[in-house]
Amino acid sequence: MAHPHHLRDWQPADATPAVDPRESAALLLRDLRTRVEGLTEREARRRLEVHGPNELPHHRARQWPAALARQFTHPLALLLWVAAALAWVAGTRELATAIVAVIVLNAALAFWQEEQAEQAVRSLGEYLPQRCQVRRDACSRSVLAAELVPGDVLLLNEGDRIPADARLLSGAVEIDASALTGESSPVERAADLPDIASRPLDSAVLVFSGTVCTGGAAEAVVHATGRHTELGRIAALSVRVRVAESPLERQVRRVAWLIAAVSAGVAAAFLPLGVLAGLSWAQAFLFAIGLLVANVPEGLLPTITLALAAGVRSMARRGALVKRLSAVETLGSATVICTDKTGTLTRNVMRVVEARDGAGEQTSPRIELATALARCATADERASSGDPMELALLAFARTCGAEVGAETREQQRIRLFRFDPHLKRMTTVDPTTRGVAAHVKGAPEEVITRCTSVLPGSGAARPLTYQTRSRLVEVVNEMADGGLRVLAVAKRDFTAPPADRTTAESQLCLLGFVGLIDPPRPEVAAAVGACHSAGIQVHVVTGDNGRTAAAIARQVGIGADHVVHGPALDEMPEAELDRLLTSGQEIVFCRAAPESKVRIADALHHCGHVVAMTGDGVNDAPALRRADLGVAMGASGTDVAREAATIVLADDNFATIVGGIEEGRRVYDNVRKFVLYIFAHTVPEVLPFLLFALSGGAIPLPLTVLQILAIDLGTETLPALALGREPAEPGLMEQPPRKRSQSVVTRRMLLRAWGIMGTVSGVLVLIAFFAVLLAAGWWPGTDVVADPALHHTYLQATTTSFAAIVFCQIGTAFAARTDRTALRQVGLTTNRLLLAGCAFEILFAAAIIYLPSLQAVFGTAPPPAWAYALMLPFPALVWGVDELYRYRGRTRSAGAPERPGAGISTASRSEGSGDVGRDGAPKPPRPSGPGPDDEMP
Ligand code: ADP
Ligand code: MG
Repeated sequence: MAHPHHLRDWQPADATPAVDPRESAALLLRDLRTRVEGLTEREARRRLEVHGPNELPHHRARQWPAALARQFTHPLALLLWVAAALAWVAGTRELATAIVAVIVLNAALAFWQEEQAEQAVRSLGEYLPQRCQVRRDACSRSVLAAELVPGDVLLLNEGDRIPADARLLSGAVEIDASALTGESSPVERAADLPDIASRPLDSAVLVFSGTVCTGGAAEAVVHATGRHTELGRIAALSVRVRVAESPLERQVRRVAWLIAAVSAGVAAAFLPLGVLAGLSWAQAFLFAIGLLVANVPEGLLPTITLALAAGVRSMARRGALVKRLSAVETLGSATVICTDKTGTLTRNVMRVVEARDGAGEQTSPRIELATALARCATADERASSGDPMELALLAFARTCGAEVGAETREQQRIRLFRFDPHLKRMTTVDPTTRGVAAHVKGAPEEVITRCTSVLPGSGAARPLTYQTRSRLVEVVNEMADGGLRVLAVAKRDFTAPPADRTTAESQLCLLGFVGLIDPPRPEVAAAVGACHSAGIQVHVVTGDNGRTAAAIARQVGIGADHVVHGPALDEMPEAELDRLLTSGQEIVFCRAAPESKVRIADALHHCGHVVAMTGDGVNDAPALRRADLGVAMGASGTDVAREAATIVLADDNFATIVGGIEEGRRVYDNVRKFVLYIFAHTVPEVLPFLLFALSGGAIPLPLTVLQILAIDLGTETLPALALGREPAEPGLMEQPPRKRSQSVVTRRMLLRAWGIMGTVSGVLVLIAFFAVLLAAGWWPGTDVVADPALHHTYLQATTTSFAAIVFCQIGTAFAARTDRTALRQVGLTTNRLLLAGCAFEILFAAAIIYLPSLQAVFGTAPPPAWAYALMLPFPALVWGVDELYRYRGRTRSAGAPERPGAGISTASRSEGSGDVGRDGAPKPPRPSGPGPDDEMP
C-alpha cells in the first residue's frame, strides 16, 4: 500500500540504547535487557513511555499552500483569469471583480472538498491497525504494532509484515524486501546463518520494518522501532505518493473541457451577432465573457471527488475499506465476483461431525488418529490462535483422548513441513515411545496416493488394495457431497528422523478421515441473490474438494453449473477458458493453486469483465493486484494480501462486497445526476441571448451577465452538491452492470438535460419575461433603455427571467433525483440536503432581488406580485414533463424481453462435479450489452 503520509525528517536517536544488532544473539539479548521468554508486560509499558510508539512520524498530510495554489492555477481557473482580465480591460470593473470572486470561492470549495476526500482515505488506516504476535510474560500474545518496544520478542509467520527492525533468534524465514532494497526476489533469513554481509540490510540474521515475511516462521528480538528503523531513515528521503486520478474523474475532466470549448465557441460567435443586433463592441464583448464564465463547469471536478469520498466513507461504515477513491466507481461496474469459499461464503467456524477409519468405515476413532491430529498442527487451542480448521481438529482430538499442549508439542517436534497450498497437506515428525513418526494430514487425494496400508477400526494395519482404494474414493465423495470438508490423516513410523519431506510423506498408513462442517454465513444467500438480479456472476475459486465446494455454493444459491478441477484448468487452452467464462455459467474452480487465480482474473478481464477477486494468503497477492478489484480479508487474511488488495473487508463477509457494489453504483449514478442538473441550465440561459441576437435587437436582452453568474455560481451550487448525496434509487441492483466503455454523459442524458428540461425551462422563462414586458405596454422594437418609463419595467422583466430560471432549476433538481423511477417511489422529502439546498437557493435569489445593495450590483428590481403567481407552477411543469418522459421509458421497457442476468438462480444446472468438457444445461447467453443508454459517439 502506498503511504498516504509525508514522513518527517529523520532525527538522530535519543532514547535508543546504542546496540549492535549484529553481535551474537546472547549478547544482544543482554544489551537489550531482555530474554527469549520476552519482556514482562509492565516493562514493555515502561519502555513504550521511554521510546515512544513504533510509528513513523508524519507531517500534516498535505502541504496545503501548494494544494490551495493548485486550485488557482488549474486550466479551467486560468480560463476564468483570462476572462477577468478581458473584463477589466473592457472597462467593466464590476464583472472583473465578480469573476475573481468566483475563482476564489471555487478554489476554496474545491480545496475543502479535496481535503475531505483525502481525510476519508487517510482515516481508513485507523480502522485497520496493524497487529503482531509477540512473547511477553512467557506467553504469546497479539499486540498493536505501534506498541512494540526494543527488547520485545517477535513471533514471525508467513504473511506477516515485519513491524520493526529485529534480529532472528531461531527459525528461518523468506523475506520480500523489495520495499526497502528494491530487490524483487525473496531472500533467505535464518538465525543460524553466518553474518558476512557488508551492510546491515543484507545481513542474513536481521529483518527490517517494511519488509514482508513470505514463508517460514521465526522468532526475533526487536532492536529498533519507529523512526530509528532503517525504514524511518529511508522514509526521510521518500516523497509523497500521488493519488492517481480515477477513470471517472478523467472522463469528467474531458467533458468539462468539451463544455469549456463549446462555451468559448458560443461566446466567440456571439461577438459579431451581438454587434449585428445593435450592441456596441464593448457590450457584445461583455456578454461574450458572461456566456463563457457561466458555462465553464469549474465546480464539477471537486464535486465528483467529494461524492467519491463520501462513497469511501459510507463503504467503510458497511465494513468495506477502500484504499483508492477510484475503487468506488470500479466496484459499481463489477460484472463478476470470484470468491473464496472458506470464511467468505462460510463462517470459518468449523466442527468435526464425522470420522472414518482407514478402511472408510464409520467407527469410533482410534487413538492413533486423534494423536496424529493433536501433533500435526500449528494452532494453539488454549490461546485460540491459528487456523480455525486446526482448532476444530484439536478440539476433536481432545474429546478422543489425545491432547498435547501447544508448547510441549512445539518443543518435542523434530521437523515441521508446513501446510503448502500447492501440496495441500502438512506433515510433522514427532517422537513416539518406539522412535519417531511422521504425522500427515491433508486433502484426501494427496494423502491416499502416498499410502501403502490402512488402519481399520480394530485390529492391525493391512495393505491398501485396489478395492479399498476405490471404496475410499467413494467414501470421500459421499462426505464431500454433503458439503463437508474432508481431511485424510496418515502416519509412518521411523526409527530415525526421515531425511526429507518426500521420505516423510511416502509409504504411509492411512489412519482415517474426518469430515468438518463449516456452515454458510446466513446473509450470503441474499447477497448472492442480489448479485444475480444485478447481472453479476459469482464464481468460486477454492483449494477445497469440488464436491464440497459445489455443495456449499448451491446452498447459498450460486449456480455451480460447472466444476473445474485445478489440474484440468492448468491444461486448458486460453481459448477454451475464455469460452467457458463467457458461457454465462457460474463455475466452481476447485483444488485451484493460487496461480490459477491470476489466470482466471486475466481471462475474465480479457473477456471484457470487471472482476472483483477475493484472497487471503501470501500466494494470493499477485491475483489481488492483477484483478480489477483485489478484495482482501481483514479479519483472517495476511498482511501481504491486505497490502496487495484495493478493498479490505473488515468482516471477511461476501455480503459486504455486494453492499460495496451497491454503494459504488449509487455514487456513480449520483455523479450522473448532478451532471444532468448542471447541464440543464444551459438552454434557458443561452436561448434568451439567441433571441436577442436573432431579433436584431428588437427584443431586449432578457437576462444580464451578472444574473447568469448568480445562478451558476450561487443559487445552484448547493442543490447540485445535495444530488451527490441522493440515496440509492429503487431498482439500482436490478439493472445490469454498466459497460466498462460507457461514458458518464450519455445521449439519453443530453436529451433529458437539453431536449426536455432545458427546452421546457427556456420556453417558460421567455413566457414570464414577455408577460412582464407586454403588460407594461412594451412592443417589439421599443427601446427599453431610452424610454425612462419602460426602463424600470425592463429591470423587472430581466429579474423575472432570473427568478423563472431559479424556479425551473428547482423542478430540474427534483426530476434529476431519479434516472428511471417515479419521484413518488423515492419520496419527495427523502433527500433532506436537497430540501435545504433549495431553501438556500430561494433565499439567495430573494436577497439578490430585494436587498438594495445587491439590486445595484445585479441590476434587479422586484417583479410584480402576479409574476410570482405565474411562475409558481414552473417547478412542477419542468419536473412533470420529465416525469412523463421517464414514465414512457418504463412502460416501454416493461414490454421488452427479460433483462439480462435476471432469473439466473432459477436456471437449471448440471449436477455433480462435471468434467471440463461437459456442458451445463442450455441457458440463454447473458449479454453484458448496454442498456437503453447509448454511448456518446
Ligand atoms: P480453501 O481455503 O479455499 O478451502 P486452502 O488452499 O486453504 O483452500 O486448502 C486447500 C486444501 O488443503 C483443503 O481442502 C484441505 O484439504 C487442505 N488443507 C487446508 N489447510 C490445511 C492444513 N492446515 N493442514 C493440512 N491440510 C490442509
Ligand atoms: Mg484456506
